[in-house]
Amino acid sequence: MSDAIGRREFLQSVAVIAAASRVGGQAPPAGEWGASVLDIHLHPRATVEGNVLHLDGSGVTKAVLLTGANAEDRAKQTVAAHPSRFVRFASIDMTQPDAIDRLRMAAKNGAIGFGEIKSQVAAAGPEMQRLYALAAELNLPITMHFQEVNQPNSPGTFNTGLKKFDAMLKAYPKTTFIGHADAFWANVSADYAEDTSYPKGPIKPGGVTDKFLGDYPNLYADMSANSGNNFLNRDPEFAAAFLVRHQNKLMFGSDCSCADGRGTSGRGASAGRCIARATLTMLKKLAPPDVFRKIVWENGTRLLKM
Ligand SMILES: [Zn+2]
Ligand SMILES: [Zn+2]
Repeated sequence: MSDAIGRREFLQSVAVIAAASRVGGQAPPAGEWGASVLDIHLHPRATVEGNVLHLDGSGVTKAVLLTGANAEDRAKQTVAAHPSRFVRFASIDMTQPDAIDRLRMAAKNGAIGFGEIKSQVAAAGPEMQRLYALAAELNLPITMHFQEVNQPNSPGTFNTGLKKFDAMLKAYPKTTFIGHADAFWANVSADYAEDTSYPKGPIKPGGVTDKFLGDYPNLYADMSANSGNNFLNRDPEFAAAFLVRHQNKLMFGSDCSCADGRGTSGRGASAGRCIARATLTMLKKLAPPDVFRKIVWENGTRLLKM
């Protein structure tokens, strides 16, 4: 290889790296976590500035607002007021007869994904399969709430049947799924019996969540809420290896209900603490720096083409 070619290739690779970092969201200042942070799972607050308050308080750069189709205006106002800090997804109860039309309209009006979808149906049921087809057609991801156990804060069961979800991952290869909630994270362990929401103690290797993330390129993971936080804490040694194993598939999210990113006025699992802070602290502790950056910024901004 001549020097000239070597130099040309070098310059090309520099250009590729520069372009990649521009695509990566003009990486804003790193802030207190040592990296830009995307919160992939934030529900809109009562006011536009309430949303900003949670980001600023928790050291988060940017967030995906997961918004019910009936409350879209608030999310639209927030994105319009702070376009560098918010994007939005749209959700709806998939049992509503006009669900598909409403979601199609939301995508036309600026939603860049669907979710969180939390419907009291089987994950392989006809209502959900219509959504998987729409998401493939529009090339937008779906954040799915998988819950097999009734909870006081979340009564009912939602998108049931995660253990057999490989059938859907296979049937809809062009649909991008983002898994979330207690059944998703509890099923990292092979012994999950669907009898409790937040199992404690050592993880038994071979659970479906671990397996599906490895086997299906169209499955990603949202690490938000008590469910994601419980997974990181119940068996930190297993979790550290899992973070490395699926480093291109995992995305930080909070699902936090606190007011200020510091734990004030939080409900349920956010009572007295900000889950964003708790999970970022744990991720920072368990993941090597390059993996941390992928999980808190690069994977999400790449997937959402920010
Ligand atoms: Zn949820
Ligand atoms: Zn919080």
